[in-house]
Amino acid sequence: MDTKAAAKKMEMRGKGLGSSVTENPVFPGRIELPYTLTTGRAAATFLAELANHKIVGSRCPRCDGIFVPAQDFCAACGTSLDEFVEVPASGKLSGYTETADGLIGLVRLDGATNDFPHKLLDTQLGELKLGARVEASWAAEAEGSILDIEGFALGGDEGGEVKPLEPGAEPVLEQKYEMRLDYAHSYGPYYGMLFDGLATSRRIQGTRCPSCERVLVPPREYCDVCYVRSGEWVDVADTGTIKAFSIIHLEFVGQTREPPYVYAEIVLDGSATRLIHTVAGIDVEDAKERLQIGTKVRAVWKGGDPIGSLEDIEYFEPVFED
Ligand SMILES: [Zn+2]
Ligand SMILES: [Zn+2]
Repeated sequence: MDTKAAAKKMEMRGKGLGSSVTENPVFPGRIELPYTLTTGRAAATFLAELANHKIVGSRCPRCDGIFVPAQDFCAACGTSLDEFVEVPASGKLSGYTETADGLIGLVRLDGATNDFPHKLLDTQLGELKLGARVEASWAAEAEGSILDIEGFALGGDEGGEVKPLEPGAEPVLEQKYEMRLDYAHSYGPYYGMLFDGLATSRRIQGTRCPSCERVLVPPREYCDVCYVRSGEWVDVADTGTIKAFSIIHLEFVGQTREPPYVYAEIVLDGSATRLIHTVAGIDVEDAKERLQIGTKVRAVWKGGDPIGSLEDIEYFEPVFED
């Protein structure tokens, strides 16, 4: 789900709830980490030959082991391997387990020294036995990935032999991967109140520390100076003062605005803490000349339905007194 969709979902939950501090609304989040894997010499050949319906292993000249998939070094004796072999696409089941995504088997391909883990297809846990014959089922289209073998199904004849590999396919030197982590982020009761206030009535609420009497925005359960529990909820204004600012020229991943733009630490009237937000409504060149520590700003609220987030404030615009 992209950020906009996530915000939309948040809107559905936050809007009009006026939830109490005992409720814990959540919003969905996602961390995505795309990367490129360099396969290495042996795996590059193994992946490439899958398109030719060949399973490539490596023969160790020292211990005579046949390792599948092909390896750069012998897993048993550490010898550097440079002889590729073609291993039969059938073998015996030497182990199996059931996962949430189906059955996984350890397949000892005919002639191989090690087990090859893959999906087991068209079968059920009760039908499996150790030593059962299995054979590879090939995907309709090869993509240079381990899933070019869809999985292994029960069946297949004995008698296949390990043969020297006749090289053919262009090695698959890189693979695209994407690590993805979906999670639900809980607002907690304090941010929940803030977001509900923004969603229902464009109120910006903070909490007051009973000891130092500072008002914390965003609201927090404990004062970060006195370490005492904050208690009283208070409304703060949507106007304030710039305490620090920076003009952002750098482009980076996840940026929601196009540079250049102004990012500022703003203390809202009635609050004691700094809120980070954008200052706009002024030309960036003008901003360089005119913005100062102490410049007054006011919130420019987004049109349309509020989403219950600080993004409901489109930006803060400077209010020059001269
Ligand atoms: Zn070896
Ligand atoms: Zn305090």
